Amino acid sequence: MKESIARILRLDQVTHDVIRFTVEKPVGYAFTAGLATEVSVNKPKLKIKKRPFTFTNLNDNNYIEFTIKIYAEHKGVTLALSLLKPGDELILRDVWGAIHYQGPGTFIAGGAGITPFIAIFRQLNKEDLVAGNNLIYSNKTVNDITLKDEFTKLLANNFTNTLTREKKRGYHYGRIDQAFLKKKIIDFKQHFYICGPGSFVQDVSKHLLAFGASPSTLVIEK
Ligand SMILES: Cc1cc2nc3c(=O)[nH]c(=O)nc-3n(C[C@H](O)[C@H](O)[C@H](O)COP(=O)(O)OP(=O)(O)OC[C@H]3O[C@@H](n4cnc5c(N)ncnc54)[C@H](O)[C@@H]3O)c2cc1C
Repeated sequence: MKESIARILRLDQVTHDVIRFTVEKPVGYAFTAGLATEVSVNKPKLKIKKRPFTFTNLNDNNYIEFTIKIYAEHKGVTLALSLLKPGDELILRDVWGAIHYQGPGTFIAGGAGITPFIAIFRQLNKEDLVAGNNLIYSNKTVNDITLKDEFTKLLANNFTNTLTREKKRGYHYGRIDQAFLKKKIIDFKQHFYICGPGSFVQDVSKHLLAFGASPSTLVIEK
């Protein structure tokens, strides 16, 4: 597996626990929207601790962007990432993943599972192909919604937010369960892109299949 060193150019706080990392793009490095790589921090002891993160910008850019949720309580790699400064280095590896755009459909994300869809929607926007796609995004509270303004601008009424721990006017409340999907989705013969915690992907996939979606139309990270 080839390793490339990428210097951090800037850090931006996206939500209270999500940070955008803009890093140098190693020469010859290329990816498509939805894919990821194993990242580690280029410091002794941390070099060997690899974690997967998704590219959230487009390959056309001369930099790479990651949008990373920090789990400080895990005392792991995301905590170490949150302590870095511009000029510190990351190690990037091969590009991999199963999530890529296969045609119009409904994107269903839980929490940090939004990241492949950030890149895909930016690519669709560039190609003027956003119309006909929907995004359903589940978070605990309004403050946890990553890039709410960007998705609202892109998708308008085709962007649905659901909250599991806060009741707020204008937002659905509750989990993405069978009742929610039955109410929200008219056509089960479309592509469904699902990303989030393992149990979220499993449950949503199970419900969609029960409503008649074909396994071949579910786009998930295996
Ligand atoms: C293909 C793919 C792409 C991904 N892309 C992104 C992305 O773009 N952005 C993003 O934010 N995330 C992404 N993720 C998720 C991301 O990889 C994890 O959030 C990250 O690996 C967490 O690393 P960590 O070392 O901080 O914590 P972990 O590896 O989860 O945990 C480190 C240690 O903390 C302990 N621990 C685990 N859970 C808890 C807990 N609840 N409380 C206390 N301690 C605990 C365990 O001992 C564990 O060994 C992606 C995942 C995959 C599979």
